[in-house]
Amino acid sequence: MNSRYFHPESLMMSYGYKPELSEGAVKCPIFQTSTFVFKTAQEGKEFFELAYGKREKSPGEEPGLIYSRLNNPDLQILEERLCLWDGADECAVFESGMSAISTVLLEFLRPGDALLYSMPVYGGTDHFINKVLPQYGITGIGFTPDDTLEQILLKAEKAKVKLVYVETPANPTNALFDLELCRKVADQLSNAENSVYVVVDNTYMGPLWQHPLKHGADLVMYSATKYIGGHSDLIAGAVLGKKDLMKRVRTLRTFLGNMAGPWTGWLLMRSLETLKVRMTQQAENAAKVADFLAAHPKVEKVYYLGHLPENSEQYQIFKKQLSCAGAMVSFDIQGGEKEAFQFLDHLKLFHLAVSLGSTESLAEHPATMTHSDVSDLDRAKLGISEKLIRLSIGVEHYEDLIWDIQQALEKVG
Ligand SMILES: *Cc1c(COP(=O)(O)O)cnc(C)c1O
Repeated sequence: MNSRYFHPESLMMSYGYKPELSEGAVKCPIFQTSTFVFKTAQEGKEFFELAYGKREKSPGEEPGLIYSRLNNPDLQILEERLCLWDGADECAVFESGMSAISTVLLEFLRPGDALLYSMPVYGGTDHFINKVLPQYGITGIGFTPDDTLEQILLKAEKAKVKLVYVETPANPTNALFDLELCRKVADQLSNAENSVYVVVDNTYMGPLWQHPLKHGADLVMYSATKYIGGHSDLIAGAVLGKKDLMKRVRTLRTFLGNMAGPWTGWLLMRSLETLKVRMTQQAENAAKVADFLAAHPKVEKVYYLGHLPENSEQYQIFKKQLSCAGAMVSFDIQGGEKEAFQFLDHLKLFHLAVSLGSTESLAEHPATMTHSDVSDLDRAKLGISEKLIRLSIGVEHYEDLIWDIQQALEKVG
């Protein structure tokens, strides 16, 4: 073996795959199978003992393949590769981002518990926290980037907090939350009987530009539908973290049965091979688009992490936590809903669609689309107004993207 440390992007084509187990195929085949044959009954018994945690792994032993709800090579290899980006012990891939998130919340919360959550969160997450979990006697307590440690602790004072749930940068305004501060909140609320965990939805930064586990998070989650999949052709999710917590997540996944299938696993492995080049190009394009928008007279304000004033607190968090300004750019257009819709309806290259992180650029209107379920009061507080437009920048030539934005802005008014 060589001793060189290879970067994750160098390992995405091969890591965890053994060609000799698949007729020498250079690529991992799609293991489109529900179940796996045991060589002997004794082998089947041993595989189950390990899978159900009845005994510890012997040195060098690999978990045997049993049944595709428990494991499948396309998921297992994908999970090992995803671990490389975040520096995680283990990963579990799900059939959607929402199934990853809801499984984590259901595993770590019980009736009578509370969770602290950053505001705003993804619409589906907001719905699960505020409409589904209360039916199980679980309370969500929101906090914003303006809240200090003391203010957050005050909000949590009378509650039995079990989780601090953070989405940073926040969608659609790119507001940043300080993960170190979230860790402090969790530690102060923990005691001998109760460990409070920090879980981070890192979808907005992909696995490339922010590594929450290195900033005190216990679990990191993704909608793999976004940057990880990256081609707007699949729905999937992922959870990563330390072994002990991941064992709990994986076990609940086995019994909810919401793992991704082999075909999705295979597509995601294919996507991971180009993750770094895609995301790097997207970020480069986003910087050009954001600069153009900032100089345009019909644009009131641009929400882009590469434009944060250096003396701001948000910039300090940016420097500490992120390695890139990302590829999500939002802006306030002069006017209101009418002007925003005129702009959106005249785009020729951008697609008018929700979702993000894909190879093609997308544009949407958060107030009436992704965030229409957020209360009016919260929308006003969070700056999600009728003039706000959210762009997800893709891999097209940046000059074409700017041309498209320019011509659509000309049609406004
Ligand atoms: C899209 C998204 C989700 C939900 O993921 P799905 O794959 O659509 O289920 C969760 N969080 C964030 C930040 C998202 O953008």
